Amino acid sequence: MRHLQAFEDALNSIKSEGRYRVFIDLKRHRGEFPRAAARYEDGREQDVIVWCSNDYLGMGQDNDVLDGMHEAIDSFGAGSGGTRNISGTTRYHVDLEKELADLHGKEAALLFTSGYVSNEATLSTIAKILPDVIIYSDALNHASMIEGIRRSSCARRVFRHNDVAHLRSLIENDPADAPKLIAFESVYSMDGDVAPIEEICDLADEFGALTYIDEVHAVGLYGEEGGGVTERDSLAHRIDIIEGTLAKGFGVMGGYITGKTAVIDAIRSMAPGFIFTTSTCPVLAAGALTSIRKLRTDDGRDLRRRHQAAAAMLKQKFKDANLPLMESETHIVPLLVADPERCKALSDTLLHDFGIYVQPINYPTVPKGTERLRFTPSPNHTEEMMDELVSALLAIWAQLGLERAS
Ligand code: PMP
Repeated sequence: MRHLQAFEDALNSIKSEGRYRVFIDLKRHRGEFPRAAARYEDGREQDVIVWCSNDYLGMGQDNDVLDGMHEAIDSFGAGSGGTRNISGTTRYHVDLEKELADLHGKEAALLFTSGYVSNEATLSTIAKILPDVIIYSDALNHASMIEGIRRSSCARRVFRHNDVAHLRSLIENDPADAPKLIAFESVYSMDGDVAPIEEICDLADEFGALTYIDEVHAVGLYGEEGGGVTERDSLAHRIDIIEGTLAKGFGVMGGYITGKTAVIDAIRSMAPGFIFTTSTCPVLAAGALTSIRKLRTDDGRDLRRRHQAAAAMLKQKFKDANLPLMESETHIVPLLVADPERCKALSDTLLHDFGIYVQPINYPTVPKGTERLRFTPSPNHTEEMMDELVSALLAIWAQLGLERAS
């Protein structure tokens, strides 16, 4: 093959920087989350507890969700059969969009095949509709937002993470009559901090800017009905476009945006990432619909309460053990390691010696020097599992000569 060397060189450079990713092959059994088995190439299997799943509430194993999916696959089959426009729309897609709009108190919603695509497609398309728009983007925004903004070739400004004063100074520097859009997240997935949503909305009002929020790490998890932090803080009506995923709190797969009918209809009509791809499988839409509906009820409230309790308990246990817990206001529980090799060594030893699976988080996912282990306790993680985790961490921490908090 021509140019093979270039591919090998690219790989070698990733490997030399310790950024080469090795996937753990997990075998799971219905109803046993977070227990799973890691499968190795030599055929060996090892029982593990998964500590880094983004199926935050375990809805991917929920019996009602699975039953809903079985019903859909039995009646609708496997694939969707086409793009939304060409035979790929089913009642599950239509009902799911209605449910999502209602969940966020918006007029309309649009489904995408993933949260990544929803951000990328929407943000790049907005700039076609508003060619003079200036997009203000939080420095820690997810790659999918950054890619969408880059592709749009509109003017963009990056404001320091959660720094409203910096955002204000950037806006003030731009022409008052230019259309503006502020793109940010509610819960930031690597640090577990929350955006100052109300202050950003106030600023948007003052300068006539549109607001776009990614609630990927919050939908299903916060608010009376799982509508995210914007629901919890009664701010959804102040956001023009709320974007979310069906893959984390809701436990299935897919992404979406919600907002005013004209906005959603324009994106539906113009976004290549929506128009030119096969629509979500009906079975996924059915699973997501069941999951969302369940999480809007008392069952959901109970799960959210247990989820928060699990996160609080794990944080407390880390603190009590003087492990370097990073400040987090949410369900995300990061431990700072601050060294890529040790981070990987910690993760490897946890897995191989203790049957504890947590993926190391290294550059470029987080800045160099802030490498970490990111734990996501679910309502199904027991206190016993937490105690085993803490004692394993303490043993390896000492072995690697890592510092503890004082
Ligand atoms: N936004 C954020 C903040 C994310 O962390 C992610 C994925 N981890 C996405 C969007 C993409 O969502 P999905 O996994 O549904 O593609």
